[in-house]
Amino acid sequence: MHYLFKTIRLQKRFPLAISRGVYSHSDNLFVQITSDGHIGWGEMSPGKSEGADTALAGQTALENLIASGIDNLSIYELDQRARQMDIPACALAAIDMAYWDLLAKKSKLPLYRLLGLGKPTIPTSVTIGINPPDVVRERIPLILDGSTIQSLKIKLGSPEGLDADQDMFQVVFENTRNRNVTLRVDANGGWNLSEAQKMMRWLADRGVDYIEQPLARSDDDQLPELFRTRALPIYVDESCHVSSDIIKWANCVDGVNLKLMKCGGITEALRIVAVARAYGLKTMIGCMGESSVSISAGAALGQLFDHIDLDSHLNLSPDPAVGALMEDGIIMPTEKPGHGAELINA
Ligand SMILES: [Mg+2]
Repeated sequence: MHYLFKTIRLQKRFPLAISRGVYSHSDNLFVQITSDGHIGWGEMSPGKSEGADTALAGQTALENLIASGIDNLSIYELDQRARQMDIPACALAAIDMAYWDLLAKKSKLPLYRLLGLGKPTIPTSVTIGINPPDVVRERIPLILDGSTIQSLKIKLGSPEGLDADQDMFQVVFENTRNRNVTLRVDANGGWNLSEAQKMMRWLADRGVDYIEQPLARSDDDQLPELFRTRALPIYVDESCHVSSDIIKWANCVDGVNLKLMKCGGITEALRIVAVARAYGLKTMIGCMGESSVSISAGAALGQLFDHIDLDSHLNLSPDPAVGALMEDGIIMPTEKPGHGAELINA
């Protein structure tokens, strides 16, 4: 096996503002594994809460993992070894998806079929970050005109408070009324309990279908109270990283949002879905600032989810990779062996 790393700056078309800050680019780490004439591709989007906040930190961790001797490990054993060595989740995600890509290529199957899955049928949400109302008004046609996008995810939890949230949401609501799109909201932990209760009622009155991470992680102990009085289904994102977290939220949320970067890749994503289903929870897959490589790996799992947010590659200028394309609003895996994505100038 031969491992190659490459760091590429991903520039966003529209900077993304959420409750915690503004993101205009990310330096992502790409992993290329060559074995028996096949190439497996993986990607890490760095993040502090995903364990490695730079591409270099991720690469160093993966070089240590490789140096431990992993060439003959199964993917399951690779996951175990990485967790024993405390490899950051986002770095593990990169090598895990590359291993799955390689296995599917050697098996001559699209990854979704190797996993025993059919094609996804749920359209992706496309995110609108926190912005002044005028910017949002201009942004909506730029995103929706001429596209097959069917769902928008609105980022709220503005540091400027609930009035700013309501002003921004109202613009989205009015400017999408004659378009066939569903609206959902991600507060990224930007509200306290009473704000969340108030906003969830207000948003339910405006047809929103669910709320993601209404409370900050530090207020997780208030989720049972919010759940008891909720006006909208609650999904946790920042509060749930891996399958062993789910038991804590089994009785106080409606669903969990997994991300490959947050959980450590496809192997753990499969466990999260299994555990969530065992507790009767709904499932969602989201993304960090990822190109078509990681998005295509996520798309291969698409049939497992009630909601899909695989849109970060659509906001790149340019996307350095090619892979799953949007068909009727759905991020559709290709029929090529593997996850179907690769860097354009590899
Ligand atoms: Mg989220």
